Amino acid sequence: MLSPEEKQRYARHFTLSQVGIEGQQKLKASSVLCIGAGGLGSPSMLYLAAAGIGRIGIVDPDVVERSNLQRQILHGESSLGSTKLESAEARLKDVNPHVQIEKHPCRFTAENALEIAKNYDVIIDGTDNFPTRYLSNDVAFFLKKPNIYASIFQFEGQLSVFAPHLGGPCYRCMLPDPPAAGTVPSCAEAGVLGVLPGVIGSLQAMEAIKVILGIGEPPMGRLVHYDALQTAFREFKLRKDPQCPLCGSNPTITTLQPIMNHNDICQAPSGPNELSVAELKAKIDQGLTGIIIDVREQWEHDIVNLPQAKLVPLNTFPSIIPELTELGKDHEIIIHCKVGGRSAHAVEFLINEGFTNVYNVIGGMEAWQKL
Ligand SMILES: [Zn+2]
Repeated sequence: MLSPEEKQRYARHFTLSQVGIEGQQKLKASSVLCIGAGGLGSPSMLYLAAAGIGRIGIVDPDVVERSNLQRQILHGESSLGSTKLESAEARLKDVNPHVQIEKHPCRFTAENALEIAKNYDVIIDGTDNFPTRYLSNDVAFFLKKPNIYASIFQFEGQLSVFAPHLGGPCYRCMLPDPPAAGTVPSCAEAGVLGVLPGVIGSLQAMEAIKVILGIGEPPMGRLVHYDALQTAFREFKLRKDPQCPLCGSNPTITTLQPIMNHNDICQAPSGPNELSVAELKAKIDQGLTGIIIDVREQWEHDIVNLPQAKLVPLNTFPSIIPELTELGKDHEIIIHCKVGGRSAHAVEFLINEGFTNVYNVIGGMEAWQKL
């Protein structure tokens, strides 16, 4: 039942035949889990709360930092230093006191994901990294709940609704395996125009509401791409992949996949063309004979660097081949980046060019700084 105050609040919904009082009651009876209270989670939760979703769960372990405020509009100057959950709760309660906010102050992991997500009708993927995005997709698949997916990059965003239980594809049908760690720059590395998550996160809220009300056509089997600079929306067909490792006919993924955390990466044993940061330090201490190449961007190099390393950003990497060839194809070449993904590409490239003594620094500068 809606109180007189709620009836006033939602008056603009009642005149829509697709919503009406009945739809409003559906929204009130529904629950949404938002993974991440950041760029995408901010607008989506603000609109979901305003629209009268009964219960909103939020998973986020982070504290509000000033660099968040350019795009994470749930938070403000006054919540700097408090947790994103406290900040989000205060703001959402102010928008709509009828909404119940449930705070999950943790990372979303393979260990807790099912337990948290099972209590919600819809999952909003507001994550900013591949491992959690796959986890969000997989949890939604196992629990047979729609996963409202979105991701953003610089001036571009994309959105889809993954609901294999309703016949559509899942995220793994589109991208079966995550790219190697570090090969795709994060928001922090690549940058993002602050309004972009506003646009895309709002679309996520719209799709969640449509799914709950059962109205319109959610983009199941469609990837909607937004190019902010061109002001263009384009659409790509996504097909359910019968070979999908998760939702295909012979699935190889039958449980949630644990997320490799940073320490796992740092402590990973080094393979034939790999070097741990400890091994790199030993080489430097013993008087380095090889060459170290940093394949990050200039601005990353400016923040922190190894004085012994030569900066050759990955996109200009082939330009160094003549110099390396002169040193000899068996000269020792050590390559690093921020976390080890981009440098892995550079190592592979050199091996294909016939270089025989090439090493990737596992964990990159991030691991080096923790030595
Ligand atoms: Zn699939």
